Amino acid sequence: MLIDNHNRQINYLRLAVTDRCNLRCNYCMPSEGIDFAENNKLLTIDELIQVSEVLIGQGIDKIRITGGEPFVRKDLMRLLRALTKMSGLNDISVTTNATVIGPHIDELKELGIRNINVSLDSINRETFERITRRNQFDTVHNNLIRLITEGFNVRINFIVLEGQNEQDIIPILEVMKHHKVSVRFLEEMPFNGGSKNFDGIKWDHKAILEHVAHTYPNFEKLESPKTSTSVNYKIPGHAGTFGIIPSFSRTFCGSCNRLRITATGDVITCLYGKPKTNIRDIIRGEAAKEGVENAILKAVGSRAKTGFEAQKEHSRTVFDNSMTSIGG
Ligand code: SAM
Repeated sequence: MLIDNHNRQINYLRLAVTDRCNLRCNYCMPSEGIDFAENNKLLTIDELIQVSEVLIGQGIDKIRITGGEPFVRKDLMRLLRALTKMSGLNDISVTTNATVIGPHIDELKELGIRNINVSLDSINRETFERITRRNQFDTVHNNLIRLITEGFNVRINFIVLEGQNEQDIIPILEVMKHHKVSVRFLEEMPFNGGSKNFDGIKWDHKAILEHVAHTYPNFEKLESPKTSTSVNYKIPGHAGTFGIIPSFSRTFCGSCNRLRITATGDVITCLYGKPKTNIRDIIRGEAAKEGVENAILKAVGSRAKTGFEAQKEHSRTVFDNSMTSIGG
């Protein structure tokens, strides 16, 4: 079991398989992209498999594959196939922008990988294209509908962005009224690769809930697992649910069970902190298993208590990093 220095059990790994993305969401990175890692700096698929095995041996039982856009990574399915064979892993999930998932939907279903988070910040074509700076609205829409109708457990991640998509908060709940999906509204975070200034947020979790309550005053709060980052609600008559994630307000650190490994092997114990170590050279060296185990134990043993404490590791308040490198 992995227990951190604040007595929190870590059983959830967010594993980034690339830092590249085929969208250019304006709250994530500049239009020209970021300095993406060179190919030889990325963990190979075999290394990702090996890292997963080691961490499962240490007590990880849930892995979320993320990126960058995971499906732009060639051979991603080889990693997913390998993960489904690993005993001790109870939950494999993927976070995707749903642009290029289409050809893999059948195999995902066959593999039993049912938990798919789709990032979708607007149901309006123009708004979607303005935010993502790409013309992928129809593809994303079609893949999303396909995932829902094929019975995947779909959660939609919607980042509420001041001046950009707040007008879509209620409509996305309307559109999803007849679908058994969870729409999760997230606060914007300061990881935009320097694409824009970040001076705090207007749309924090309270503002989002108040806004929803104007239209749906009868929403009911749902019980959520202790480690859930979202506070979840049900609107009477809606097939699905909605949730709000205070990702910038950081009200959930006390029960955080997560560890992140980036596509280049950085080990991140808090989204708001600096990487604790890098395991790429370790996994490529002698005694890789012991080396990775020790590096992970050390990282987990020196975790910041909260995201606010971790943030002090940075000298500036506006972070240069992009979520596409961190993995969301
Ligand atoms: N490409 C995949 C996707 O779009 O879901 C996975 C990687 S993406 C970096 C993971 C999540 O991070 C997405 O839901 C995205 O909206 C979110 N994200 C990116 N930049 C963010 C920011 N500055 N604040 C909050 N969320 C952000």
